[in-house]
Amino acid sequence: MITAFGQTSYNSWIKPLQISKIDNFTVHYTAPTSFIKDWVNTNYRKKLLKLWRQVDDTILSIEIAAEKTPAQVQANNSVVNLQKYDAKPSDNIDNRFSFDNFIVSQGNELAFLAAKQLATNDKVTPGTNPLYIHGGVGLGKTHLLNAIANQYKAEFTGKKVVYLTAEKFLYKFVRSLKEQKVLAFKDELRDTDILLIDDVQFISSKAGTREEFYHTINDLIDNNKKVVIAGDRCPHKLEGFEERLRSRLGGGLVVNIGDTDEAQRLAILQSKAKQFCINIPNEVLEFLANRITSNVRELEGALNRVAAHAQLVGRGVTMQSTKGLLGDVLNKAAKIIDVKLIKAAVANEFNIGITDLSSKSRQKSVVEPRHMAVYLCTKLTSMSLPEIGKSFGGRDHTTILHSVKKIQAKLKDADFAEQVDGLVDIIKAG
Ligand code: ADP
Ligand code: MG
Repeated sequence: MITAFGQTSYNSWIKPLQISKIDNFTVHYTAPTSFIKDWVNTNYRKKLLKLWRQVDDTILSIEIAAEKTPAQVQANNSVVNLQKYDAKPSDNIDNRFSFDNFIVSQGNELAFLAAKQLATNDKVTPGTNPLYIHGGVGLGKTHLLNAIANQYKAEFTGKKVVYLTAEKFLYKFVRSLKEQKVLAFKDELRDTDILLIDDVQFISSKAGTREEFYHTINDLIDNNKKVVIAGDRCPHKLEGFEERLRSRLGGGLVVNIGDTDEAQRLAILQSKAKQFCINIPNEVLEFLANRITSNVRELEGALNRVAAHAQLVGRGVTMQSTKGLLGDVLNKAAKIIDVKLIKAAVANEFNIGITDLSSKSRQKSVVEPRHMAVYLCTKLTSMSLPEIGKSFGGRDHTTILHSVKKIQAKLKDADFAEQVDGLVDIIKAG
């Protein structure tokens, strides 16, 4: 499933969907927001249907409904207005997240230091506005944004801090249009000392919203107000964003939150384990830190599951209970990567057929992906060169070695290396 969409699109658009029912040859999904619903409808519905039909050809259509339609949200919040929002500046800010409970390691140190610097200084440091933090899911972006908001509010009382997800920004903007309160909306945002926007990749497919967003951050930056943005990719990779918006977002300090390392994961678990009233043996924490490497959210989820179970059944946590409870998660982590998986991911990435990879074709559009697939087999599987050769249409091992060398030479190019890393992530997530 992931390989069919690409990791980022999968996480952003497909993963949030829930199947509500399957009947009348139709799969019904619920999307958490109407924005996601519309996006999936426009961009991914056909592909979803195709995938379904590969496993079940009685499925004829896909229906996607939003969990809450805008009308429902409006009905629930019939008195929501910008004044109310104004009176509650702490709206949306999660006070559980602080710098103190953020575990720093090599992968996130720069982001942490930049965030802290910004939150503990009243003045804007030249060249750092906006601060743009990017990284994969569950690696601590939302945590850092909230930590900034909490710290800044505590240090500089009376200052106005606004934290909004991009979706919320969109919602508020559309609402202000409907209620003819656009000016109030603009004033409201331009009057903040720090504006924090989370998950910017969701800002909108509508040019009007992006334009409003662009002008908002422009005005704030020009007036020496702080802007902090988090996104799942670096600014120049934001699809569908105008060049001027991308370059504005990337025009300050851009920092990446990279993958976690084992020592960091263990430190996070040790710090989170303290919040439970039960003892979790260090051996179990070490085991989890070693085995669940994808992201901190999954790590926390596993710890919560182990702790909740122990509390529920009134027994201590042991290695055995942990392994039993986390079978599904651990199997995923220990997933065996084989040549089939690699070929599927590479063919999808380069938009060619899987069989092309083993064919005799010498077309450039096929040869390069073939080199890549071969290289990934040497890197991600324990296959020998002759074995790999056999899986790629009976090539001999010197040909395989040639492919590997081709890729190794190209890895010096940073963009290419990034593409390879991306593919490895997709294959590992399988
Ligand atoms: P993102 O916004 O990047 O998807 P989150 O900020 O929501 O990720 O992080 C997911 C969970 O992991 C949160 O509960 C957060 O507190 C925790 N977390 C992530 N990184 C760290 C870290 N370095 N130290 C402590 N907790 C972390
Ligand atoms: Mg987040």
